[in-house]
Amino acid sequence: MKDEKLIKGIAALRISGLFELAETNTKKESRESEALAKRYILLAKKISAHYKVKIPKEMKTRICNSCNAVLIPGISCRVRITKGPLIIYLCSCGSEKKEYIGKQTQRPLRNSRIA
Ligand SMILES: [Zn+2]
Repeated sequence: MKDEKLIKGIAALRISGLFELAETNTKKESRESEALAKRYILLAKKISAHYKVKIPKEMKTRICNSCNAVLIPGISCRVRITKGPLIIYLCSCGSEKKEYIGKQTQRPLRNSRIA
């Protein structure tokens, strides 16, 4: 049991380390470093799945689900802000990621207008 906790701790450390590496590589803005950053995120996802360690929410919201890019506004994604508690991150691959901020944590109904 103790070993399992230790292994999960090491896995969490590796995930955060890989995310930091991916972030610095994305900021370099070259094709090679971008591919390397995506590879780091893929490895972090594999570690998380293998050792059943969750990727922290603050990291997960900054990763594109379709191309594994780190979403950094102005570098790898564009940001759209709506009137409501919703921020949309548009990745360079074309997919979008929605983030709800503020007290409202549930998704609004599909047909309701965001006030
Ligand atoms: Zn993407």
